[in-house]
Amino acid sequence: MATNRTFTMIKPDAVEKGYIGGILNMINEGGFKIVAMKYTQLSKRDAEAFYAIHKERPFFGELVEFMTRGPIVAAILEKENAVADFRTLIGATNPAEAAEGTIRKKYASSIGENAVHGSDSDENAAIEGAFHFAGREIF
Ligand code: UDP
Repeated sequence: MATNRTFTMIKPDAVEKGYIGGILNMINEGGFKIVAMKYTQLSKRDAEAFYAIHKERPFFGELVEFMTRGPIVAAILEKENAVADFRTLIGATNPAEAAEGTIRKKYASSIGENAVHGSDSDENAAIEGAFHFAGREIF
């Protein structure tokens, strides 16, 4: 059964370009409620652990370097059918393939530097949320 929470990060490229406000606005307008949020920076160890599933992929080193190069915004979002609806709102991994009206279409610059993360399953949403937030930080 689908749960009602997902996890997101506004990635370093979007933070550097001043897109935090615009992206949060699209998240709000998409009907998501922010139940946890922090401005933070991933260490190399954090990024390697977070993206461990991709460690054999050719882009892994580049991905870790990118995700650690500056601050991110991490957040837990709530909405009915949150995981699937947020994947729709962010759009395809590659912004060249992202639909009109999606966050990546508007704010992402490449398949690597693609502005936002969105969990791909309820199970991963729970794991990723717990990676960044203690229970007392979730409202
Ligand atoms: N990525 C990359 N090169 C690729 C594919 C993915 O650098 O060819 C990065 C990109 O930042 C992406 C992340 O790795 O968001 C995780 O990849 P995934 O396939 O899980 O895409 P997502 O779920 O983020 O759309």
